[in-house]
Parts: sequence; C-alpha cells; structure tokens
Amino acid sequence: MTDIGIVGAGTAGLHLGLLLRQHDIPVTIYTDRSAEDVRTGRLPNSVAHHAVTVARERELGVDHWPVEEYGYVCHHHFVGGPNLFFRGDFAQPSRAVDYRIYQPRLMADFEERGGRIELRQVEADDLPALGARHDAIVVASGKRSLGEFFGIRPEKSPYRQPMRRLMVGLWTGIARTEPHGVTLSIAPGHGELIDIPIFSFAGHVNALLFENVPGGDLEVLADARYSDDPAAFRQLVLDKLRTHHPSVFERVDESSFQLTGPDDLLQGAVTPVLRNDYRLLDDGTVVIAAGDVHSVLDPVVGQGANSASYSGYTVGQEILADRGFGEDLGRRAAERRRERVETVSDWTNLMVQLPPADHIIQLLGAMSQSRSLCDEFTENFNHPERQWHDIVGSPEIAAAAIARHARAEEPANA
Ligand SMILES: Cc1cc2nc3c(=O)[nH]c(=O)nc-3n(C[C@H](O)[C@H](O)[C@H](O)COP(=O)(O)OP(=O)(O)OC[C@H]3O[C@@H](n4cnc5c(N)ncnc54)[C@H](O)[C@@H]3O)c2cc1C
Repeated sequence: MTDIGIVGAGTAGLHLGLLLRQHDIPVTIYTDRSAEDVRTGRLPNSVAHHAVTVARERELGVDHWPVEEYGYVCHHHFVGGPNLFFRGDFAQPSRAVDYRIYQPRLMADFEERGGRIELRQVEADDLPALGARHDAIVVASGKRSLGEFFGIRPEKSPYRQPMRRLMVGLWTGIARTEPHGVTLSIAPGHGELIDIPIFSFAGHVNALLFENVPGGDLEVLADARYSDDPAAFRQLVLDKLRTHHPSVFERVDESSFQLTGPDDLLQGAVTPVLRNDYRLLDDGTVVIAAGDVHSVLDPVVGQGANSASYSGYTVGQEILADRGFGEDLGRRAAERRRERVETVSDWTNLMVQLPPADHIIQLLGAMSQSRSLCDEFTENFNHPERQWHDIVGSPEIAAAAIARHARAEEPANA
C-alpha cells in the first residue's frame, strides 16, 4: 500500500498530510518541533491566508476560524510622496491567524485522523533511510534547512541578498480600518509596511510588518533591540510610523499602543530563491520539495504560505492520481504546479526590485484612479498567474491592463 513520508509540519506538510489522510493513505510527518514548541515559541511570521487557501482548508476540514469572525475584506493602499490613498476589495475574505495557534491545531487534526508525527531532525544524509521506508518523500522543511539538497535555479533566482530587512511585531492600540482590511503603505525609497489584522493569543491585534530597504531610514527597525529598552523601542516604532506610514499612524491610540509580548516580535531578512522541484535517491525514490524549501519568497505580497499550501496539496493530488512513483511522480507534480510556483516567485521578485520598475509605479498611480483595476489587483492575491499574465508581468501587460480598465470605466455616452 502507498506510504508517504513528509519532512516538516508547516503549512505545506500539514495540508499535504491532511489531504492524504482523507484518502486513508499512511503518512508520517517528521518534524523537529513539537506542537508545544511551536505554540510557546517566538512569532514565526504574520501570515494571511487568502480565499483560495481558506477554501482548501474547508475541503480539508480544518477551517476552524470562520472568515465571518476572523476575516478581512480589502486592501487599503497608501503611497507616500504623492500621498495616494486607494482601496481594492476581495471577492471573498482573507484571514490571518497566528501560526503558533494555527499549526499546533492542524498537527492535532492530523494525528486525530491517523497521521503519525515523529519528532526528529532530518538531515540530507537521513533521506536514503526514509526512502527505504516510504514510496515517496516530500520535503517541506521551510526556508532554513535541506534547501541545498535540491539546488537553486539561477535563471529564476535574480537576487543574491535580501532586498528588504524585516521587522514584524504584534501590537495593540491600532483601530480597525473601515472596511476591515489590511493596509499596504509604501514609503518610497524606505520600504513598505503591511498592517494586518491578525488573531493571536491576545485576541484580535495588528501585525505590523515593516519591509525596510537596506540603507533607508527605516532599516534601524530590523536592528533595534526590544529587550534593551522596550519603551525606547516602542517610541522608535511610533516615530517611524508618524514619519513614513501616516495612514497607519493616524489609527494608533498611543495610550494603548503596546507590543503584545517580548516573543511577539521577529527581525530578519530572506533572500528569495527558487530551487529544483525534486531529486532521486540512489534507490530511485523521489524526494519532492514543497513550500519554502522549494521557493523562498520575500513576504511583501504575502504569498509564501498560500503557495506552500497550494504546492503541498498539488503534490498530494498527483500522489492520489496513483500513476506510480519515482521520477514520474516528480515530473508530474512539477508540471502541475509550475505555472503557480513560477509566477508567484516572479511577481514577488518584481515587487521588491530596487529601484521599483517604472510600470509598477505607473500601475500604482492608475490603481489610485481606477477602483476596478485595484479590485482586480487585490483579488489576484488569490490568483498569482493572473496577476503576472494580466497585470504586472511586463510594461506592455501593465499598459494593456490600465487601458482595459480605463475603457471599462468610460461613461457609456462619452
Ligand atoms: C514576517 C513574515 C510574514 C509572512 N506573511 C505571509 C503572508 O501574509 N502570507 C503568506 O502566504 N506567507 C507569508 N509568509 C511566508 C510564510 O510564512 C511561509 O512561506 C510558510 O510558512 C512556509 O510554509 P512551509 O510549510 O514551507 O514551511 P514552514 O512553515 O517553515 O514549516 C517547516 C517545518 O519543517 C520543520 N523542519 C525544519 N527543518 C527540519 C528538519 N531538518 N527536520 C525536520 N523538520 C524540520 C519545521 O519545524 C516546520 O515544522 C510570511 C513570512 C514571514 C517571515
């Protein structure tokens, strides 16, 4: 009988494992962190799942946080300099739940449904032994380990260093937007701020994800040490918000603005890369990469976990197709997800380019004038292929999108 080994209990590994368990396939997840380790650990990210991912969670029976209560419905944009404000709506809500709550719950679901979790760290040298135990191995170990096993695709990995230096924390004292949504604020030359309503241990709070341009005025946020002086740290964040991200600052109530806890803060940086889809072990067992180990994305457009879910699920569908393992499975899985994985990566890499591409600047200006264009751009957070091919993929595509929406919005008698 088919038996699958998965390395990693993140979104890619769990969504894959849960899908396979729905079909009674024996699955073992090998992971180096227990549910308790995850629950009590440092904030790992500030992930929003878009409607396509929420729909997948419903199919998997793990939609524990209904969007009616936990969701949000739009993106508010602010572009500093010209000071443009505009909004784009989703057709269906997105949702952000602290992964320290989300992942332990899904690990419990997986085990309740007959999945096995084995607590251990897996190195590349361990893969042959796992290959002898399973028909196929899916490595979903995230961005910090086992990436070298697969090797980088240089033609799809344009950067050699991080394009932003990050600081994300969970904060109280920020009023909701109306309608309830994420705010994407751009401080030209200095970076972006993504203000996300998120459900965490302290209830409904805000994740402020500062994406700071190296050398810019906001980079200090990636280095400042909260533990040295929490009050000074808080004041620094307030000052930077006031100067660079005023549309978020104006919703701050300074009397209740606080980090929700010392562990609710993450500082770092990621170098985006796309790696090869799979490798074969000497005995012919296929080892497939899924999620961040396959494609590391800067979080600026919030696609990594949505893509990890898609990728894990898609590999699962190919396993369920029951057309053999080995290299054939690797090829089929790669082909099935190629368009999504590559366009997510290309789109994200374009959005962190320095200086920004002219057509992205033009698109932002056009979106501030065209609600329908901004709605399409926003909804395409669910559909990266469409984002790339219909809106951002090249100057010509962007110009055509702007013209298409301008025509659609002309008054009928004009
Ligand atoms: C600040 C920030 C904000 C983000 N915001 C968004 C967002 O809004 N939307 C979005 O879609 N994405 C977002 N992302 C990206 C998202 O967090 C990742 O893309 C996603 O969590 C990757 O999932 P994964 O399953 O591939 O890996 P992970 O979630 O990293 O899981 C990896 C798993 O493998 C285990 N593991 C690691 N190494 C080993 C080993 N050697 N042996 C055994 N087990 C191992 C780990 O313990 C873990 O269980 C954000 C990221 C950051 C940093």
